[in-house]
Amino acid sequence: MSTKLIEKLQATIGSQKVLLGKDILERYHHIWHMDQPLNALAYLLPENTQEISDICKLCHEHDQKVMIYGGLTNLVGATETTGDEIIISMAKLNKIEEVDAQSRTMTVQAGVILENVQNAAKENELFFPLNFGAKGSAQMGGIISQNAGGLRVLRYGMTRNLILGLEVVLMDGTILNSMKKIIKDNSAYDLKQLFIGSEGTLGIVTKAVLKLQEEPKSRNSAFLAFNEFDKVVNFLKFIDQGLAGSLSGFELIYDITYQTLTSDPSPYKPPIPYGYKYYVLVESLGSDQEKDHAILNNLLEQAVLENLTLDAVMAHSESDLKWFWSIREDVHILKAKCDIDQHFDISAPISAFGDYVDAVMDKLNHLDGVKHAFPFGHLADGNIHFIIGKKNDSDELKNQINDIVYNPLTALGGSVSAEHGIGLHKKAYLKLCRTEAEISVMKMLKKSFDPKGLLNTGKVLDL
Ligand SMILES: Cc1cc2nc3c(=O)[nH]c(=O)nc-3n(C[C@H](O)[C@H](O)[C@H](O)COP(=O)(O)OP(=O)(O)OC[C@H]3O[C@@H](n4cnc5c(N)ncnc54)[C@H](O)[C@@H]3O)c2cc1C
Repeated sequence: MSTKLIEKLQATIGSQKVLLGKDILERYHHIWHMDQPLNALAYLLPENTQEISDICKLCHEHDQKVMIYGGLTNLVGATETTGDEIIISMAKLNKIEEVDAQSRTMTVQAGVILENVQNAAKENELFFPLNFGAKGSAQMGGIISQNAGGLRVLRYGMTRNLILGLEVVLMDGTILNSMKKIIKDNSAYDLKQLFIGSEGTLGIVTKAVLKLQEEPKSRNSAFLAFNEFDKVVNFLKFIDQGLAGSLSGFELIYDITYQTLTSDPSPYKPPIPYGYKYYVLVESLGSDQEKDHAILNNLLEQAVLENLTLDAVMAHSESDLKWFWSIREDVHILKAKCDIDQHFDISAPISAFGDYVDAVMDKLNHLDGVKHAFPFGHLADGNIHFIIGKKNDSDELKNQINDIVYNPLTALGGSVSAEHGIGLHKKAYLKLCRTEAEISVMKMLKKSFDPKGLLNTGKVLDL
């Protein structure tokens, strides 16, 4: 990196926003690796879209690679550096610019944290349904770039279903503004969709218009137990029909995962005893707490009587709800059990899941080097996560585990990434779920938006 570029950046955005030397070492590349000093040329803290555009223009002129930092919660190595990048942190673009209660929209800068969006919607008696474990750190720009999913996709869709407008800065400094609040816009190509889920490889998201919903007036949940996978799938149909549109969460937790999440040193007690193979956590969001509680309760009683489930426990209070959902969301407990871990986030048709997970678990449990394997996930979306604890961090073991989890997915018509993205860690496996023609069109897009390959270089695709 030339000193000239640094001087120009300092002159353009102010030297206090250009961190260098030991100030960079105090930063990190991921919230789970805060003990590892950041390896980068400079760390920039711009405050608005124009400053980001100016930075991009300068870096483009100087052929300088840049990497964008959001909340640093991604699970695919997307913010790992090689040391020759300038980091653009979005932390200071953290304002909620507007809540428009009539249009049911919220306009946010990219660095706004998800939990703050949820709270601001609630203050206006509205609801932003996106929810997942990293809500206290993940930023809207990172979430949009990863097209995050989470716990309510079944009812409200992925992030791309919740975005009405976007402002994006391209690598040459161009500002693309499509910050509309409208739901329907068929005036030619929907450009914003290109940036949603492209993992910061095509442009930098600086602002977004979010689509809000009416705030649900009731929330009910229950834990259930099953021994057969087919019964889990049948129950999904039963409960979805019975709740007639209010089912908003259907989470599957395998026995080993459930036990680990609810036994010492976990602070959570098991709501249902151990001894079953599958545990399911359901959520309904509706309009009347008492009525909706009774509806779910009646359905659960019917399910037990008709042998559709082996056991069921309902949450009867706010603290029960917190208890149940903390068990599902606090996956850090699983990670803490694994000294060295590997994560997976795969998709397959729901009907294929039971056999697929059994086969993968059997192979993992017989693989020397694997200490733990914890499956759980958003079954109604056809999405399962594995957190795997290992005895060593060798590439050989990593690749063996990747092969076990990923290789069967091609035949199943699945995906190596349901919601976490490709980043760095899954790049080699993209070809298992995308055709050559698809990958070559992706490369065409990357070359059109960033011909010099300077933005989030080496992530998602190798050019
Ligand atoms: C405990 C835990 C639970 C999680 N659960 C889920 C889950 O259920 N579902 C799910 O989908 N994900 C989940 N994740 C993953 C993660 O939270 C998401 O991928 C999230 O969207 C990342 O947002 P971030 O702000 O942390 O982005 P970062 O990690 O900072 O960045 C992710 C990528 O986006 C790019 N980027 C960041 N900001 C911008 C921007 N403004 N413009 C362009 N590119 C940008 C970065 O360069 C990087 O490539 C979980 C993570 C954790 C730690």
